[in-house]
Amino acid sequence: MKEIFGELPSGEKCHLYTISCGQITAKVADLGATLVRLYIPGKDGKVDDVVLGYDSPAGYLESETYFGATVGRNANRMHNACFVLNNKTWSVPANEGCNNLHSGPDGYNIRLWDVVSHTKDTIVFGLHSPHGDQGFPGNADIRVTYKLEHDAIRIIYDAVSDRDTVFNFTNHAYFNLAGHTHPEKAMEQILSMPARFFNPDDAANIPTGELRPVEGTPMDFRIPKTLGRDIGADYEPLHLQGGYDHNFEVFCNPAAILSDTGSGRSMAVYTDRPGIQIYTANFTKGAGKDGMVYEPRCGVCLETQFYPDAVNHPEWPQPFVKAGQKYHSETKYRFTW
Ligand code: BGC
Repeated sequence: MKEIFGELPSGEKCHLYTISCGQITAKVADLGATLVRLYIPGKDGKVDDVVLGYDSPAGYLESETYFGATVGRNANRMHNACFVLNNKTWSVPANEGCNNLHSGPDGYNIRLWDVVSHTKDTIVFGLHSPHGDQGFPGNADIRVTYKLEHDAIRIIYDAVSDRDTVFNFTNHAYFNLAGHTHPEKAMEQILSMPARFFNPDDAANIPTGELRPVEGTPMDFRIPKTLGRDIGADYEPLHLQGGYDHNFEVFCNPAAILSDTGSGRSMAVYTDRPGIQIYTANFTKGAGKDGMVYEPRCGVCLETQFYPDAVNHPEWPQPFVKAGQKYHSETKYRFTW
């Protein structure tokens, strides 16, 4: 199914596309190749929409939440909004102090993507990003595929550029497995994550370069615990970021499992990326879908990615690709209920 989602200030129409498989249904928008709704059954048979979102394109254009959006070319932060590639310094827009967040104000999250194909359970979006777009080198052709399976949503990224460039895409869905209309239940959900290390950040959310063991800190989710249990702990990285907003190593798969006891829903995250940002919606506020007024900590993002600012840390896995090299990456969110 394809329906009108709304109109952009340019007069262009954007659309919502429905895909479904078994008991799972998703609605995705061409604006930002965005996951707008994700319906998952619970143990009592009741189906809930487990992602935060907006009712119209305006919500997505006017906010900086990146709800459900495709983020690129480079997800997360870049120190001093620049990087060096092939001995040349490339500058991208500084949109958070002197740093870059999610590739700047003209992100892929607010572009109108083409629909390459749409079947019952799969949609493929395409975007051409020209040389110099957001300051990045290379004419790039990017595809994002949302594919539903009977118990999962897979998000697949394919891209190629005619010059060496950076590819580091993520999806910025905020999950609340109790349903997005139950904000009070978000921090009660249990996170299990085998990560042994995380990246502490400075006050501007830029990694200090340290990979700190989670052992003995509130960042340790190797023994499952609720998101809320230690979020208020007296621990500098939590104070600086106002809660969890940190990259963790992906030690093995699933990289993380989030569970909601009340609905019986559980979500396992599988990824081929080296990092996962856990962000507890620390500053999220405002009107959302279905008459909701979202408040801080009403959901959690599990953003699979290269480590933040990896372009400036050659010791970490690198998000650079060669001209003509085919970039391919997949993240799967698998549900049980
Ligand atoms: C970042 C947060 C930011 C959020 C929305 C997350 O990926 O880590 O610091 O507030 O995106 O922009």
